Amino acid sequence: MSDCFFCKIAKGDIPTNTVYEDDNFRVILDIAPANPGHCLIIPKKHSPNIYETDDDVLAKAMVLAKKMAVKVKKATGCDGVNIMQNNEEAAGQTVFHFHMHIIPRYKDDNVLSYNTKKQTDEEFAQMRQKLADL
Ligand code: AMP
Ligand code: ZN
Repeated sequence: MSDCFFCKIAKGDIPTNTVYEDDNFRVILDIAPANPGHCLIIPKKHSPNIYETDDDVLAKAMVLAKKMAVKVKKATGCDGVNIMQNNEEAAGQTVFHFHMHIIPRYKDDNVLSYNTKKQTDEEFAQMRQKLADL
C-alpha cells in the first residue's frame, strides 16, 4: 500500500523512535503516548485490521507483544501493561494498518477505562448461543 502511512513508517521511510526491528515488524514509540513508553508493534506487511491479517503474522505479533511488554515493564518500572488493538473507527482505530499498542500502566492512572453493561441471564444465553453457533 504505497499511500499507507504505517507502511511508510514500517519500511523506515518516515523517521520514528524505533525501539525494535526485525524482518517482519517495526516497533516504535507512539507519538501521543497514554503513558511514556507506549509502543506500537507494526507489521511490515500491510493489512487494514485483524480480520484481514494473516494468522502467521498475528501469531508472531503476539509473541513480540510479550517480549515488548517485558521490555516496557523493565524500562518504565510500570505496575502493569495493556496490550490493545483497535479495529474500525467505532473501536477507536485511526490508522488503518494493523498494529498493536503496548501501554505501560500505573495503579489508579485511569488512562483506559470503559463503562460496563448489565445483561440478564436471558441476554447472556442468547448471545452465548449466537456466538457459539457461528
Ligand atoms: P489507533 O487509534 O489504534 O489506530 O492507533 C494509532 C496510533 O498511532 C495512535 O496512538 C497515534 O498516536 C499513533 N501515531 C500516529 N502517527 C504516529 C507517528 N507518526 N509516530 C508514532 N505514532 C503515531
Ligand atoms: Zn500499510
